[in-house]
Amino acid sequence: MRVRTPEDSGNADLVEITPDGEVTLKMRPDPSGHRQWFYVELVDVKNQRVVVNIQNAGEASWPLGWEGYQAAVQDGGWPWARADHTSYQDGVLRIEHTATTDRLALATFAAYPITRHQALIACAVASPRVRREVLGRTHDGRPMELLRLGRDDAEAPRVWIFARQHPGEVMAEWFMEGLLARLADPEDETVARLLRQAALRLVPNMNPDGSARGHHRVNAKGVDLNRAWAEPIDAPEVAAVRARMDQEGVAIALDIHGDEEVPFTFLISAQGVPRFDAALEAEFAQFRAAWNQLDPLMSLKDGAPPTAPGEGHLGVSTKQLAARFGALAATVEMPYRSAPGEDFGPSHAKSLGESCVEAVLAALAAGRAGAPIAPR
Ligand SMILES: [Zn+2]
Repeated sequence: MRVRTPEDSGNADLVEITPDGEVTLKMRPDPSGHRQWFYVELVDVKNQRVVVNIQNAGEASWPLGWEGYQAAVQDGGWPWARADHTSYQDGVLRIEHTATTDRLALATFAAYPITRHQALIACAVASPRVRREVLGRTHDGRPMELLRLGRDDAEAPRVWIFARQHPGEVMAEWFMEGLLARLADPEDETVARLLRQAALRLVPNMNPDGSARGHHRVNAKGVDLNRAWAEPIDAPEVAAVRARMDQEGVAIALDIHGDEEVPFTFLISAQGVPRFDAALEAEFAQFRAAWNQLDPLMSLKDGAPPTAPGEGHLGVSTKQLAARFGALAATVEMPYRSAPGEDFGPSHAKSLGESCVEAVLAALAAGRAGAPIAPR
């Protein structure tokens, strides 16, 4: 058996393979010291019972996230699934799985390498509806890609959906994959209605450097992009997107994430900033209720503690966009682990990406149909 860390998005180093074949790994911290993301491949493992111990799981940023957690595995070319058995004890995460092919990949959640991101963009632009633009470059020189769909006139409400500011929250890009597949479907009349009403602005990957480097939370310079929206210092990714938002406006903003600890999907509002008033709060509640009604996978529960008035962190995208534009802005959080009996995976993230089409339409119908709101 051999263990390799993929160059694209891999994380964790081999510590040892014992004579009886047990593998011990150590997660690498990203430049901010965060660690939760692991992604390795075991080769020559056909018909073997693989046992992998992640030695420093107790030093993860959210060790509570390992309670009741099951690691993601990909056996050869099969879709990602969950390992046969995962347990967490004394700071060690132990993963056991019987491989049926020669190659077994293990990750915190179904990996979404930068090569898959590139394939996603290539597939998206094959649709005549989708226009690709490069808004800027990252520290590592990667393109910051924007996909434009729908209306393009100045009056159209701008609907921004962006994902993976935190690169280890890979479910966010699975969400975008589901959304983009649906948006490209010429037969889908609901999509056609949305595209007639709004200008869609999608950024499927806000942090391509962090994704490629296998970081859990930050960009190449160690910046947490979702704390950089007030002052994007060393965050060219945010600077590029925010500059375009200032030109075009923002009516609705959805920022797609994963939550390491909470075992269900939920939304976080822009609560805590000055322009988040009773009207915006009501709009948020309506938006959440509409999404939940269309897709029960989107819960009505609050997975995050409330933010007191004036306490909203303006470096967080949704808080900044509500404060800057009066936008209906929400953070979408999806789980790494699932409620007992459920198994949240890429297909669930994709289905949430699909159902957000109706939720956005409902928000537009409820009063977000006007002109884009200019920045203050
Ligand atoms: Zn996040």
